Amino acid sequence: MTENTFYARLRAELDDIVAEGLLKPERILASRQGPEVVVQAADGHTRTALNFCSNNYLGLAADKRVIEASIMATKDAGTGFASVRFICGTHAIHKELESAVADYFGYDDSILFAAAFDANGGVFEPLLNEEDAIISDSLNHASIIDGVRLCKARRLRFNNGDMADLELQLMRARKADARTILIVTDGVFSMDGHIADLSNITRLADQYDALVMVDDCHASGFLGPEGRGSAAYRGVEGRIDILTGTFGKALGGAMGGFVAARKPVVDLLRQRARPYLFSNALPPAVCAASLEAIRIARSDEGNKLRAQLSENAARFRAGMNAAGFNLVAGEHPIIPVMLGDARMAQDMAAALLDRGILVTGFSFPVVPKGLARIRTQLCAAHTTAQIDQAVSAFRSARDAVLVA
Ligand SMILES: *Cc1c(COP(=O)(O)O)cnc(C)c1O
Repeated sequence: MTENTFYARLRAELDDIVAEGLLKPERILASRQGPEVVVQAADGHTRTALNFCSNNYLGLAADKRVIEASIMATKDAGTGFASVRFICGTHAIHKELESAVADYFGYDDSILFAAAFDANGGVFEPLLNEEDAIISDSLNHASIIDGVRLCKARRLRFNNGDMADLELQLMRARKADARTILIVTDGVFSMDGHIADLSNITRLADQYDALVMVDDCHASGFLGPEGRGSAAYRGVEGRIDILTGTFGKALGGAMGGFVAARKPVVDLLRQRARPYLFSNALPPAVCAASLEAIRIARSDEGNKLRAQLSENAARFRAGMNAAGFNLVAGEHPIIPVMLGDARMAQDMAAALLDRGILVTGFSFPVVPKGLARIRTQLCAAHTTAQIDQAVSAFRSARDAVLVA
């Protein structure tokens, strides 16, 4: 009886999600990730579509060299280690990747996690306790919110990007005699493509003697000089105490996350971070793919890819502005097309897929109610013809949806 009530309640909740137009359907790919993908339609037929919604910013997810490196590592070291790192799961390739990450982003050392979600989930609790305070941006990623919840430090929040509010919270934390204050922010806010104001955040941190942590998942590999991320972009490299990032986006697109920091931070996380201690080591295939992606990102070719990515983003922005769409302004290859209504965002995404463009509508709870959008993302591998095709598909989809 309670069992029936339980399942009935879940069904009702799912029905509500559908009724509010908030369902997030999963489209099935039948190809590699890239600027053009094969998508399985609802009727089971497949169609090709231009992809404008992946985090594959540099186009490395299906790069031949990245794939080859990954295959070779599997042949050499097997599928995995069937162990956490401290028992018998640490292979030379883990140390190699940790050094490569530390060297790329300018830190003493780094520590690998199964995902950036785990890196953020595990980073706070070992480093801070009730004597400390964490000041978190209100739009920070879900994994930061969860990580902060798992930590005993006092929690303070500042309004997204609001430096006056951040200063207020810093004063509150100082007044409460916090031992250590840690400001934490996304380097790039993924729903808007806004780049955090790290010059002012670090200035305030200096003024109030606080540490700064940046989650650079939507920046590592492609933002700033050499792709070193949002701090490099803002010219405050070396002032970020703790950096978290992912291999699941620009850096190869496989999976895995990291924390890069000074030695005592990384050393203590190896002893105490729960997702590190109690979860399997990254597989060789993923480590090798990430190493090769980092190599490419740091090379001359990386510079060319980043230049192409900005050019592509600028072309798409210009085309969409000329077509009269309401974009969130910015310089990041995340380009949100604001539509307001959740249903409108879903209908536009469906009409775009009919026109061979794969994009996703985002609505509550991922973004605030009434601020539904299609978040487009550009990739270095898009051609100008593909970008122009997407812009005209947006025009025609809007006409079709507005008439319907
Ligand atoms: C994608 C993302 C994550 C999660 O990264 P995974 O490696 O996929 O777990 C965490 N933080 C931010 C800001 C992200 O954009």
